Amino acid sequence: MKRILTTVTMSALVVSGFASTGTGKVEAASSSSYKVKVMADGLRVRTGPSTKYKIVGGVNAGKTFKYYGKKGKWTKISYGGKKRYVYSSYVKRYSIGKKATAKKASHSTGFLRPTSGRISQGYGKASGRYGYTFHNGIDIAAAAGKTVRATASGRVIKSGYQGAYGNYVMMKHKVNGSTYTSVYAHLSKRSVYTGQSVAKGSKIGNVGSTGNSTGSHLHFELHRGGYIYSGTSAVNTINPLSVL
Ligand SMILES: [Zn+2]
Repeated sequence: MKRILTTVTMSALVVSGFASTGTGKVEAASSSSYKVKVMADGLRVRTGPSTKYKIVGGVNAGKTFKYYGKKGKWTKISYGGKKRYVYSSYVKRYSIGKKATAKKASHSTGFLRPTSGRISQGYGKASGRYGYTFHNGIDIAAAAGKTVRATASGRVIKSGYQGAYGNYVMMKHKVNGSTYTSVYAHLSKRSVYTGQSVAKGSKIGNVGSTGNSTGSHLHFELHRGGYIYSGTSAVNTINPLSVL
């Protein structure tokens, strides 16, 4: 982001800080064991992997069994304490460790990249020639008009125009128990309003070059807690690339 902030706009930008030191919980995933769920009523259970084998039972949709593998188009399950076979088309395999896996996934992908494109300026120390010595976000170069999406589900706490940011959207999120604030700047168009609840991945605006910007790009910031502006140090910002 190319911007020069005056003291006036800086203080106007300081939204109260919700200091948060919480870090997301990481849970171990287990995907070594599976179960199968029956998807059709009256599914026949046989002693072997073909219709030539004896039928030993019938099961209805929704029943679950331990999974032992596959044999051709047949799935081996535990039925009545024995290894039996059902036709694979009528069952769905799922991981018992699904819950833990999903939790881990939501931690590692708790945020999504708001738009795709080359990182034209990374997070961290900056020369100071644009009025800041610390770039507290990342710049993603993208064509004007490209869709910008919410990095996580949350509430829009500001959708407006400010000299340096141009058209910008600020969102508050709760991810893995911690509060985060995201900022999307230089938008050509905003498609959300202050106070609106927005789902992760929903469109919030379009890439542009409004405010102090020299080319079409998205300036994206991620704060732990509330928004605090600083052009000289990280304060509560994190490198978005560390979680994207
Ligand atoms: Zn920037």
